[in-house]
Amino acid sequence: MSLRRLTTRLLLAVSVPLILVTAMLLPVLHVHMETRVESLHTEARAVLKAGQEALTRDINESLNSVLAIAEMPALRHYLATHNAPSLLEPGYPPGDLTQLSRFLDTIISHHPRYTKLVLIDNQGHEVLRAPQSVAPGAHVSGRRHQEMDYFQEASQLLPRDLYLTPLGRDLHYELLDGEIIPVVNVSTPVFDAAGRRQGVVLLSLNWRYLTSGLQQAMRLGHEGHSLLVNAQGQWLLNKAALPQGTAHFGETLATLAPDYWQAMAQRSEGFVNADRQLLYFQTEDIRTQRYRSLAGNIYSEHAYYPWKLGVLLPTPSWTSLIDEETTVLWFLLLIYAVAVAFGMLWAISSQRQRTLRRAAQRHAIEVSDLYENAPCGYHSLDDAGRVVKMNRTELAWLGYSADEVLQRMAYRELITPETRPAFDKAFQDVLEHQSGSAECSLLTRSGEQRHVMIQASAYRRGGRFVHSRATVFDLTERKKLEEKLREQAMTDPLTGVFNRRYLQAQAAIEIARSRRQDYAIALVTIDLDHFKHINDEYGHDAGDDVLQAFTRIVSRLLRQEDLLCRVGGEEFAILLPTTPLSQAVQVAERIRHTVQTTPFSVHEGALERTLWLTASLGVTSVSVEETSLKAALKRADVGLYRAKESGRNRVEVNDD
Ligand code: GH3
Ligand code: MG
Ligand code: MG
Repeated sequence: MSLRRLTTRLLLAVSVPLILVTAMLLPVLHVHMETRVESLHTEARAVLKAGQEALTRDINESLNSVLAIAEMPALRHYLATHNAPSLLEPGYPPGDLTQLSRFLDTIISHHPRYTKLVLIDNQGHEVLRAPQSVAPGAHVSGRRHQEMDYFQEASQLLPRDLYLTPLGRDLHYELLDGEIIPVVNVSTPVFDAAGRRQGVVLLSLNWRYLTSGLQQAMRLGHEGHSLLVNAQGQWLLNKAALPQGTAHFGETLATLAPDYWQAMAQRSEGFVNADRQLLYFQTEDIRTQRYRSLAGNIYSEHAYYPWKLGVLLPTPSWTSLIDEETTVLWFLLLIYAVAVAFGMLWAISSQRQRTLRRAAQRHAIEVSDLYENAPCGYHSLDDAGRVVKMNRTELAWLGYSADEVLQRMAYRELITPETRPAFDKAFQDVLEHQSGSAECSLLTRSGEQRHVMIQASAYRRGGRFVHSRATVFDLTERKKLEEKLREQAMTDPLTGVFNRRYLQAQAAIEIARSRRQDYAIALVTIDLDHFKHINDEYGHDAGDDVLQAFTRIVSRLLRQEDLLCRVGGEEFAILLPTTPLSQAVQVAERIRHTVQTTPFSVHEGALERTLWLTASLGVTSVSVEETSLKAALKRADVGLYRAKESGRNRVEVNDD
């Protein structure tokens, strides 16, 4: 039972701190988590903004370069003379292809964002290509662009308008430095100084370079990803390992990450939380978003615009949070460990206290039982002598209930008036000298008396008397016993009359008194005649009965103060105080006569028989000079002996 209780308490000691610490930890972590999420959103917005700026800037710079090249006077002049040598502008020599080609080569090779530059005449023939050098005046065989969208579209455009091959429609790749890279074609018309259309400039942008610039600008760690798709959800960045799988250039996001694509297609900007990733996105239309742009209108195919630029960041998880907040975690674990330790200490100590409490209770019950049922009385009195406590034993002696006595009665009311002074003195001793005792008689409810010995001491607290503590010993039984013992010591057990020892002791007192008061004392000795015969005839028990009957008869003939004693088997003596010898002789004679004339009935088996008895008696007087009865007994016995000799049933005086 107690083991189960201990186990329950230990479980509580472990689980309660766990719950409390968790309850404490949760809001802290929750706040941390919210802060994290909030800062993640802020970070995502900042990254997205940086990305958007970088993309706008890079693309616009690229487009500006295209326009700058298209407006180069050397290029325009060369293209014009190429198209119509007869229309040479005054002051301008025919275009120098070699020089122009070298110049463009330099531009392209110094700007890694371009892969190639192509100059196309109005008929769609390639006139010049950088970085590849072409001989002056020669058409590039097999390089016709009249079917291509960038040529056809740009041929329709006004000055400073641009046409962009839609990224993702038909992916263009080029081999650059042994690597296949995606490219975007940008074309713009070329006009001469007179405003005549002379052809088209095509510049291919190294898309990998451009987007790596974008990714650099977004500065994402290894867990973050930048994201750029066109209006049809095609991946426009380099190969990227998204949580959903690897995205390749041109791949459709709708199949790779439908959750993201669904949200992006529906809204122009916002964020999505999925797969423990936070996606922040916004719409990016490079046709309209300008940055220090010199361009007029930018054309492309509507179906592929606008783009969506996004950033993908891992959302903080509880485990990642705990990983990062290890100090907090250790601190809380420490609190938990301390709480558990205290809890366990509490469980063990409370168990121990419980055991001790139980032992104390048991002990208290035992002590109370001892107090209540002790073979002596216990009580406590206040300073006015009123009973404040009394045990069951004493209440039972007195015959009162606790309610009748406690706080109601003064103890002295329970004591007989005769012994009350002794009690009062003892109680005064307790009040003044710490302890006191008295032998008193208690007056019980039924009016009986009970002789007791009260021993009491004072209980003080802080020097002040609180109450007395008394033990009450019942002396009644002892008194009875003492009485009985005394009686036994001076009486003959068979007949109940005094014995020889008592006779002798009492005789000394009587002689002394007779000496003082000057009166005579006589002594009579008696021996039953032929008593042996009674024993022989009727049995020893019958003999005993006769002896008892004899003492009864004789006692009735004597005064109160006369002492009848059995001094031997069937021998008796009578001390007669204040009796002269003559009177003693009369008493003896009366006894003799009464014995002789009284029938004694004895039992012989079932039969009752009557028998007759005689006794011989000797009489003497006791002198005041005598100090013991010894001599007087001898004298009386001489008289008795003489009576026997004279035929028995006689009284003989011997006073010599
Ligand atoms: P007598 O005195 O007349 O000479 O004759 P007796 O038979 O009385 O002789 P004695 O005094 O010598 O004998 C006393 C007898 O009393 C002896 C004994 O058997 C008897 N006796 C003494 N004490 C007791 C007693 O306590 N009970 C009984 N039943 N008999 C006793
Ligand atoms: Mg005898
Ligand atoms: Mg005899």
